[in-house]
Amino acid sequence: VAAAAPDAGPGPAWQSKCPWGAPSTTSISCSLADVMSEQLAKELQLEEENAAFPEVVAAAEGPFITGENIDTSSDLMLAQMLQMEFDREYDAQLRREEKKINGDSKVSISFENYRKVHPYDSDSSEDEVDWQDTRHDPYRADKPTTTPRRGFIGKGKDITTKHDEVVCGRKNTARMENFAPEFQVGDGIGMDLKLSNQVFNALKQHAYSEERRSARLHEKKEHSTAEKAVDPKTRLLLYKMVNSGMLETITGCISTGKESVVFHAYGGNATEDKVIPPECAIKVFKTTLNEFKNRDKYIKDDYRFKDRFSKLNPRKIIRMWAEKEMHNLTRMQNAGIPCPQVVILKKHVLVMSFIGQDQVPAPKLKDVTLSNEDMKKAYYQILNMMQQLYRECNLVHADLSEYNMLWHDGKVWLIDVSQSVEPTHPHGLEFLFRDCRNVSQFFQKGGVAEALNERELFNAVSGLNITADNEVDFQAEIEALEKMNEDHVQNHGKKLSTFSSDGDPPIYDE
Ligand code: ADP
Ligand code: MN
Repeated sequence: VAAAAPDAGPGPAWQSKCPWGAPSTTSISCSLADVMSEQLAKELQLEEENAAFPEVVAAAEGPFITGENIDTSSDLMLAQMLQMEFDREYDAQLRREEKKINGDSKVSISFENYRKVHPYDSDSSEDEVDWQDTRHDPYRADKPTTTPRRGFIGKGKDITTKHDEVVCGRKNTARMENFAPEFQVGDGIGMDLKLSNQVFNALKQHAYSEERRSARLHEKKEHSTAEKAVDPKTRLLLYKMVNSGMLETITGCISTGKESVVFHAYGGNATEDKVIPPECAIKVFKTTLNEFKNRDKYIKDDYRFKDRFSKLNPRKIIRMWAEKEMHNLTRMQNAGIPCPQVVILKKHVLVMSFIGQDQVPAPKLKDVTLSNEDMKKAYYQILNMMQQLYRECNLVHADLSEYNMLWHDGKVWLIDVSQSVEPTHPHGLEFLFRDCRNVSQFFQKGGVAEALNERELFNAVSGLNITADNEVDFQAEIEALEKMNEDHVQNHGKKLSTFSSDGDPPIYDE
């Protein structure tokens, strides 16, 4: 602006005619530009910081005890996290109450003073420290040039108050020393640098946000492993379990599958009606919906869930998987089949007893090398379990394989039964046949000479007597049976309780 002002030569016409003479253009333009650019720079910086490090991201993260950082300092973090979650819930409730009370009223009451969220978690209003108020200044310097209590130095004309520009500037420079150690401020005092309040505040703001940012990045690195597996809502559920004392600690992640994440935890205190096993497995059913789409067929056609299925939103359907696993495990437990014992179900999180010891899960059958004798023992045990499952529990596992059987304590344990169905499920027999194929192939390959082939095993488990001697015909007969059952449902509105083996009239369960 200053450069554009025509100083040289005769002034323009209006200038000479002007009765008050030429206006002075010397100083104003320069300082205005300065002020504006400084302000603009500050705004831009804030904007940039906000965009790069949104506060919410940091707030949503929390501590989590993983296999890598089992050290006890996590207890503190866990406590803080719990407190934070509590505070946040408390505040949310407060906000609801506030809203309810105020309604549409023109005069409103604020509950602001009763909010709980901890300062480290809240936004930066306390960052704006009043630079003049030395009593509350966290950046108080070690006495560079002090202003006495009465607030001024000197006498008469030479009096300088604490608002004096020079004194203030020096004080601000000295205060920079109190920024975080990694923040290089240079030797401002030695240079007798005098920082304006505006510049000092901007620098302070920057130092502060830098500090918080590095803390945040550090924290992220430390907790990123198992935490990624669960969303904040699930984390809260888990914290609550620890908070209530039901679980002692959640130590880490055992498995991350497509549809679930399994954690290990040490059990906590027993309640009146519940004994908590010393070690627990926590199965978290993933709430990312697309993974579950292909499982619809298991549950949609399961008449136990039929009425509910159509009315549910996807989130609830996922809870239903957890619920199903719980019911199925309970049935198995009642029949005496070795399987995890249900501890508690909360939404999509199922807590059960841990199969294994000292945080080490029992190996899957596919990962363990058994002696011939144990292999044979395992085979007969599984044959037995499949029969029990079918007859006593009225269930078909539907995902039975060496991946879902654990070897522990000299025997086989069945897990992963969320997809198990009753035999009269429209595809129940097909699922059973697939299970039989997996089992018989595994043991035949494993050198168990006595192992039945898949068709023999199918008949042995189901009690049916399908005589086809090849797989294609066998499968066709299975499907025919399923269809017969479905037709029966269409005509009579009721399922057969079992498939009859020899063309007898169907048996009803009442
Ligand atoms: P997915 O549907 O992801 O296969 P699973 O129920 O099979 O879920 O669990 C995945 C893995 O977690 C299992 O292969 C097993 O290693 C481990 N696991 C699950 N439940 C338990 C348990 N109760 N005790 C020990 N390990 C378990
Ligand atoms: Mn599994």
